[in-house]
Amino acid sequence: MRCTRAVIYGDNLKHNIGVIRSFIKRPQTKLCIAVKADGYGCGAVFTARTALECGAFCLAVATVDEGIELRENGISCPILMLSLCTKDEMESVVKHNITPLVFDREYILSFDKAAGRFNEKSKFPVHLAVDTGMGRIGCLPEDAVEAASLITRSTHLSLGGVCTHCSSADGINDEDRIYTKMQFDTFVSAVNTIKAAGIEPGICHCAASAVLLDHPEMQLDMVRSGIITYGYYAGQINREYFVAKGTTCELEPVMSLESEIVAIRPFRAGKSVSYGRTWVADRDTDIAVLPIGYADGLLRHFSPGLTVAINGKSYSVVGRICMDQCMVDIGKNNPDVHRWDKAVFFGPKNSGALQDAEDIARRTGTIAYEIMTGITKRVPRVIW
Ligand SMILES: *Cc1c(COP(=O)(O)O)cnc(C)c1O
Repeated sequence: MRCTRAVIYGDNLKHNIGVIRSFIKRPQTKLCIAVKADGYGCGAVFTARTALECGAFCLAVATVDEGIELRENGISCPILMLSLCTKDEMESVVKHNITPLVFDREYILSFDKAAGRFNEKSKFPVHLAVDTGMGRIGCLPEDAVEAASLITRSTHLSLGGVCTHCSSADGINDEDRIYTKMQFDTFVSAVNTIKAAGIEPGICHCAASAVLLDHPEMQLDMVRSGIITYGYYAGQINREYFVAKGTTCELEPVMSLESEIVAIRPFRAGKSVSYGRTWVADRDTDIAVLPIGYADGLLRHFSPGLTVAINGKSYSVVGRICMDQCMVDIGKNNPDVHRWDKAVFFGPKNSGALQDAEDIARRTGTIAYEIMTGITKRVPRVIW
């Protein structure tokens, strides 16, 4: 197998789910684990199986294909589909018993038709998405009761739940907190209007990672845990935030990204590295070559600034990252670095990494979510 690989630490995944469960205040609150984008890069099927073992009630995906992958691997729990699909995909959603989010008339009626084509005895459950301020999908709060009633009056659909999503719960300034509270209050009143119309709303949920950890009163019937499952915090709701509050929340990164030194080459002062000659040796040194590049998810703009751990020490990636390779300045005749040694870009401490994806994200202007989901298919996932 290729030496460039993502190692998935199953024990850390279990640890994180344990932490998440300890943050769930009421025993009746269900746990949904988001395994979209191939389990945030960690492997959807492995994450799904581990999550169910650890007491998750359901899983969340973004696309129909992601849902089908789980079903084809024998996973039979409820699967929520958080993004919208096309009309052509609806039959497949019904056939694989994936629970869609719906909100507008045309989409609801199309799903009703798709569900009807299977002529099942029981009604097909859907969750009603309400846009309380995310500005993405969902009906307006004032239209929630009408949409709920359209679902319950339809021939083949039933209302399995009502949900919303917060846009700013990972921020800790007053403006963000007030906005989150407004979204929650708006959601609760929308649910109340549905109840007042005599409609049972089903499972009510609004909490992704940030809300789950920071707003126990907003956990409702179910929480949707994403990034924290994989060992990273949601924005400012981080390790330091909990320490400052006098509590702890210790998550462990699940994935490490590693490669191996496939060559070490002596460089004279003045010799340049890679495209565009952006880095030139200012002294005699040795350059290690790693067979990993931007086609693996090691994004081009990570360099300059990216470091990698080799045998417990940190070294700089120099010059432009290429599609399939990158170069590291290891210094002249470094006794600690040898050909075939492992080089770890990020990961948990026991992986040999000296940083995690959040450290890289902070320095390169992105978020850990994007780094993790950006590790491409070409990188084999090895379960540890
Ligand atoms: C991705 C997603 C989640 C999980 O978000 P995290 O911030 O990773 O916890 C929850 N709900 C919805 C609707 C999502 O799209």
